[in-house]
Order: sequence, then structure tokens, then C-alpha cells
Amino acid sequence: CGIVAYVGHRQAAEFLIDGLRRLEYRGYDSAGLATVSSDRRIHIVKAVGRIDALAEKLKRHWAPGTVGVGHTRWATHGVPNEVNAHPHRGGDDAVVLAHNGVIENYRVLKERLEEEGYEFVSATDTEAIAHLIASCLAKHRAQQAEGTQGESCIRDPYAIPIAAINEATGKLRGTYGLAILLRDYPGVIFAARQGSPLVVGVGHGEYWVASDASPLAGRTDKIVYLADRQLAVITADSLQVLERDLGIVAHAVESLEMEV
Ligand code: GLU
Repeated sequence: CGIVAYVGHRQAAEFLIDGLRRLEYRGYDSAGLATVSSDRRIHIVKAVGRIDALAEKLKRHWAPGTVGVGHTRWATHGVPNEVNAHPHRGGDDAVVLAHNGVIENYRVLKERLEEEGYEFVSATDTEAIAHLIASCLAKHRAQQAEGTQGESCIRDPYAIPIAAINEATGKLRGTYGLAILLRDYPGVIFAARQGSPLVVGVGHGEYWVASDASPLAGRTDKIVYLADRQLAVITADSLQVLERDLGIVAHAVESLEMEV
């Protein structure tokens, strides 16, 4: 139901908890967050119930790292429990993501991915997205190794994950706001949307992502509203917005006027 993400120079989990609290008004049944530390390890903490329960858990098991995603879930597929809470992993931790929305064709995708050998642990529609991105990532990597990936891909350091995410999201039917972490690209957040809002807050050497602007109030007044079919590739000091089938597009930075 709510998404937050952070990339910058501070501990991501601090913003994630605070941001999730500011999204509480949207309603939720469980919450969770994931960070990537500099040693490329992924840390996931989840809890059923209030954000306070998640914050308590986090005190005992800190999730280190300056990049991370967080989520409050309003269950549509699968009961509210810790396994079904987001973030979800795909392909042995190659992908970790938080999702808002509903994937209508997840059963077909799940069947295909299970045939490919991906193991599902939750009852959510979301987990299919995580494994699908992992599968596309593996495919695009193999193509690059064989030298069959187009030439333009060599120039952009994120060409492979961008192609993989675009291919995966192109196969989804339904709605999504996604904040994605990839283990092999540890300093980057990928944010994509279709029918579910996402905004990016622009800072100095840091960026925030959220499903609405309320978690950003008091942190930045510079906001980029993502549009459907767009994918944002965000590092601590760069923001690139791409549109599926079009490539890089210009993004307008707007001013946020909001009471803190
Ligand atoms: N459909 C997803 C689930 O049930 C996401 C729900 C949400 O937007 O919170 O896990």
C-alpha cells in the first residue's frame, strides 16, 4: 500500500522507518524493509502489525546500508503474515523489491518461472515480479556475455538491469509501483510505475522515493513525479528517467509545498 526508498550517504533504514510512519494513514496490515550494505549483503526485516513492531525488530537486528526500500502492505493476494510481507526476493537474492498494486497475470508468470526453477515462498502476486526480473536479468547477462546485446548497451553502466526491468514490467498485467534493489548494483534504486503513483525527492547527494510526497516533507522540496511506463534509475548523485520503448526522457523537477 505504501512504498519508500532511499539512496544517499545516511543509513537508509532511519528514513525508511520514518517514511513508513508518514504513510501509515493509507492503512496497512504489515510492513518491512530491505537494505544493501557495502559488502553486497541484503538485509530484510519484516513485521506483522504496526510500524512500531518493525522499529522494535530493527533495534535488535539493524539493517545496515545507505540504500534501501520499505513497504506497508495491504494484502490483496495471500494472508497478512511475515512471509507475505514485502520486500520480496527473486532469484536467490539477486532482486529485492517492494510493490504496490495488483498483478493480474501472476499465476501464468509463476507457473513459467517455477518451470525455470525459481522457488516461490509466499502466496503473493508480488513475488512473481521479483523472480521475473531475476530471470530477465540472467537472460540479458547471458546475451551480453555472448555479445548479442546491442551496442548502445555497452555505454550505459545500467543497460543490463534497465533492459531486464523493462522486459519484465512489459510482461506484467495490472498495476504496480515498484522500488527495486539489485544485489549486483548495490548503490542503485530502480523505481517503476504503472497505475500506482511514485514520486522521487531530489536532495544533495541523496534521493528519496515514496508513493506520495508526505514522507519527503521537511527533507526536500524538489520533487519529480514519475509517469506510467517510466523507470527511474537513481544513485546517490544521479537520477535518470527512462520510458519503456523510448529510452531516456527529460524529467521536470517541481517544487513541493507542504506543511511539515
Ligand atoms: N498485491 C500485493 C500483495 O498483496 C501488494 C499489496 C499492496 O499494495 O500493499 O502483497
